[in-house]
Amino acid sequence: MIPFDYHAPKTLQKAMRLVREHGDDASVLAGGHSLIPLMKLRFAAPAVVIDLGGIGGLKKVTAGHETITIGALATHYAVESHRLLPGKCRLLPETASEIGDVQVRNRGTVGGSIAHADPAADWPAAMLALNAQFDIAGPSGERAVAASDFFVGLFTTALQAGEVLTRIRIATPPENSGGAYVKMRQSASGFALAGVAAQVALDSAGNCASVAVGVTGVASVAYRAHAVEDALRGRGLDAIAEAAAHAADGVEEFQEDHHASADYRAHLARVFAQRALTRAFERAT
Ligand SMILES: Cc1cc2nc3c(=O)[nH]c(=O)nc-3n(C[C@H](O)[C@H](O)[C@H](O)COP(=O)(O)OP(=O)(O)OC[C@H]3O[C@@H](n4cnc5c(N)ncnc54)[C@H](O)[C@@H]3O)c2cc1C
Repeated sequence: MIPFDYHAPKTLQKAMRLVREHGDDASVLAGGHSLIPLMKLRFAAPAVVIDLGGIGGLKKVTAGHETITIGALATHYAVESHRLLPGKCRLLPETASEIGDVQVRNRGTVGGSIAHADPAADWPAAMLALNAQFDIAGPSGERAVAASDFFVGLFTTALQAGEVLTRIRIATPPENSGGAYVKMRQSASGFALAGVAAQVALDSAGNCASVAVGVTGVASVAYRAHAVEDALRGRGLDAIAEAAAHAADGVEEFQEDHHASADYRAHLARVFAQRALTRAFERAT
């Protein structure tokens, strides 16, 4: 048995006080889907576990006219099943629905997934494609970090010691826009061998006015496929195949294991970029 002290604060203020008090000895707990296995394997051995699960305010998902907010403790299922999200931002419930299985989606949290930054997790791709902002509480107050600055490396994020991710904010996409997430699942866990999230907005001629593409599973960290975006901006549906061919450009460190080689993951990135963009265009029209 691993000995640790367990705290279950009911407010963020109390949680932050505990985080400050225990410093590096503490880990915050969300759904426990990654932290508990890490503790069982002795890869993590926090002396203090601060369970954020009782802080109701961190579980809320709202879909407003201008902004969508997702509390860090919202489960994947809360996003998947939200009444308004399919009409406001299809990419969010579609990504949630692709995670693991129904038990995983009922327990795993959006914030836990983002903070953990598994290179094969689905949310990082969607958050990059949606230009999400992450609200973070820390010892010296609050700050916001853009998704593009947040995912730093393998299991590494911009979160500093003593910081807690509290909320994800996304600008509600305009009328003439569409998004899609397409992935190849690792057959046991469901994690992405490769996953591509695309969000486009079209101009009145049906050409791409803005585009953002996030890729996960392929590199040691999820990334924006800027070369794809540059090749597509200002152009129409017929440019997608050519643009998608750039989906693995610039990747320095590919993921590679017995499930999929680096070449296969790069190939999947290109194929899924084409599929995700085609679906996003269709939805935008
Ligand atoms: C069988 C299985 C299948 C899965 N399949 C998929 C899949 O297909 N796709 C996918 O993307 N994911 C998948 N997951 C991951 C899962 O959905 C969780 O999102 C992920 O494991 C994070 O777990 P959690 O939310 O329970 O966070 P925890 O395990 O509680 O925490 C994870 C880490 O993040 C830190 N943390 C948590 N919340 C915060 C916060 N608010 N601020 C700062 N730090 C925080 C913790 O201290 C810990 O280090 C799977 C998991 C399992 C067990």
